[in-house]
Amino acid sequence: MEQRKCLDCGEPLKGRADQKFCNDLCRNSFNNKKLSGSTNFMRKINRILKLNHSVLETLNPEEKTTTFKSTLEKQGFNFNYYTNVYTTRTGRIYYFCYDQGYAELENNKFMLVKKEE
Ligand SMILES: [Zn+2]
Repeated sequence: MEQRKCLDCGEPLKGRADQKFCNDLCRNSFNNKKLSGSTNFMRKINRILKLNHSVLETLNPEEKTTTFKSTLEKQGFNFNYYTNVYTTRTGRIYYFCYDQGYAELENNKFMLVKKEE
């Protein structure tokens, strides 16, 4: 039979068959680690979204403008992260970071827009 081990510290378990931890201390420490893992992950993504938002806001003070992909990239813009997507009836896709959005045009040009409240 396989020796069961505590999910937190890895010590062999001697209790009931459904036992997963040595004690509450190990259970709590395991759950805390799991929690902080996903919190750190969310923090990292929130940081990227905030940076994307501030790049768009800086480049688009008049609520509508065009810019180049290279300009966005130079500011550290990350095209993989956005909060929502909007497709117009004509098929143009807008990616939004909160209220700031962008759509790809031809020749590496981008249109920047601000969502109206
Ligand atoms: Zn343990």
